[in-house]
Amino acid sequence: MHTSRSFEIAGFTSIDISVREEIKSLIGKLIAVDDVSRPDVAGSILQIVENHCAFDNNDPLLCEFSGLIIDYMLSYFLSVKSSHESVLYHFLGLINHSLVTAESPYYHTLQENLKPVIAEFPQAMELYDRLQLLYIFTENHDFDSARTLINELESVVTRQQAQLWVLFHLAKARVLRHENKIKELMRMRLLMIVETYEVDSSDSAINFLLRWIIVINWQRHTVMKKALLMRVYGRISDQKSLNCAFVLYELFTFEDRLVPSAEKLGYQKKLIKFPASILNVQQLQILYFFAGNYSCGVQSHFKESIQNYQYSNYFLHKCWERLLSLSSFMRKHMEPEQYYKAMPFLDIRIHELSDQVSMQNNAYVESLQADYNKIEELYEKVGELSLTDSLTGLRNRRYLENNLFQMVVLAARHKVPVCFSMIDIDFFKLTNDTFGHLAGDYVLKELAKILINEFRKSDIIIRYGGEEFLVILFDSDVDRSIRIMDDLRLKISQYNFEYRHHVIPVTVSIGISCDNTQDPNHSDLNKFITHADTAMYQAKNEGRNRLAVFTTGTAGICDKALA
Ligand code: GH3
Ligand code: MG
Ligand code: MG
Repeated sequence: MHTSRSFEIAGFTSIDISVREEIKSLIGKLIAVDDVSRPDVAGSILQIVENHCAFDNNDPLLCEFSGLIIDYMLSYFLSVKSSHESVLYHFLGLINHSLVTAESPYYHTLQENLKPVIAEFPQAMELYDRLQLLYIFTENHDFDSARTLINELESVVTRQQAQLWVLFHLAKARVLRHENKIKELMRMRLLMIVETYEVDSSDSAINFLLRWIIVINWQRHTVMKKALLMRVYGRISDQKSLNCAFVLYELFTFEDRLVPSAEKLGYQKKLIKFPASILNVQQLQILYFFAGNYSCGVQSHFKESIQNYQYSNYFLHKCWERLLSLSSFMRKHMEPEQYYKAMPFLDIRIHELSDQVSMQNNAYVESLQADYNKIEELYEKVGELSLTDSLTGLRNRRYLENNLFQMVVLAARHKVPVCFSMIDIDFFKLTNDTFGHLAGDYVLKELAKILINEFRKSDIIIRYGGEEFLVILFDSDVDRSIRIMDDLRLKISQYNFEYRHHVIPVTVSIGISCDNTQDPNHSDLNKFITHADTAMYQAKNEGRNRLAVFTTGTAGICDKALA
């Protein structure tokens, strides 16, 4: 389970080993020293970084130093397990659902979580709203308002109000980042993470490290990011915790090059089994939408994809609700000019959501359509199967019953002559008895092939019984039909039926009935078939391997027998 070795960051960095060792020992010191000496140690770490690269987000070396620092801190915090979920760690999960207002399902939980703070500081909920507002400013890129609010709150939020203090610093980190005060930002992070570990838990400290990993602009070092995430995952993959969800969701949103879809689906499947309170509605919407697309596009599991889309749609609806509560919160808490400034960002969100709605609808409809097409295809196949003889692939009697009447009526209307011809294998029982049933099957299949080759596409060939075939010839008068059928008879008798080195003699007897009734009805059809059958028995009686024709006028007697 301990897979950290293979994700050792050292393998991805160009930083000199002696520098790495120096940083490593300073991180150890940072964690070990008291509050008073800690800023000095942090200063030493920053000095080393500054000696090697610029405190500039565009300097790729800064990524490497950040990755290294995070890695050393993780090594430490991952080795200490928190004994229970701290209040602060729980709070870090709750802010994932921001905005939390009085209408939010998490409002009550939040109040419960903040109870100790409220007891000391009755305006805690109002302060919480100010901090949410600060967060929104940073999200809307209104960094002027954010900075003003930070200056105002700096002296109000104290270390004792742990949750609020943390929320304040998370928002402040965004502002420092925007102001490009990277050195100050790194100092704040180093101190906040270690202090949190000291007074709260390793879980919360790791959560801050994960947040740090997520906001870094990794540029060409994304593989380092993945390595760090996998490292954490390797240690906490057995938990259904907030940190584990952070890691999994981050891996899930990685570019496809580094995390292929199939792997993402694995993370998705794990994530949706987490307690509902850990992921927010937007994350859930994205997760289910991905699964819907995957099961529809990659797997063709339409039923599953429709179900995923339905979940996704539910959470999409929740996203709209969230957006509405955001806009009413903004109206309530912002100055008019701040609200005016924020409008374009609201517009963007509305656009994004409505795009998501149409994407969702399209995908849903496509999935239904594909599902419907598949059902139709199957339906056709079932229909086809029920009209087809499985041994020979020829049409069966059910086909005859369903289609023949219309065809014959049509032929009569166009004065097209129709001929019925019954073919029966001679002494087929003997074939089975002599060569075995499988050899008999082979003869039937082979014979079917000959028939298919011999007749026109417009003619109908039916396996009428065990070894009886009915051929209906359209646009073929008696003379032509006799010629064709007798040629066939001869061909069969000369054909080399060979099964497992045994040559099987095969002959057939054929009966023909031609009748051009002007206005045929169903009983006429049966009559034609019976007549062909009668003629076929006549051929049998006359010695087999021959053809007989039934003609009207000679009352059921076949007047012609060819041999
Ligand atoms: P006749 O010349 O009078 O037609 O003699 P016959 O032996 O062909 O006639 P009969 O009707 O007595 O026997 C037909 C045989 O066809 C009996 C049956 O076992 C065989 N048969 C029917 N369907 C199949 C099949 O699907 N596979 C095989 N191998 N034999 C079949
Ligand atoms: Mg028979
Ligand atoms: Mg037979």
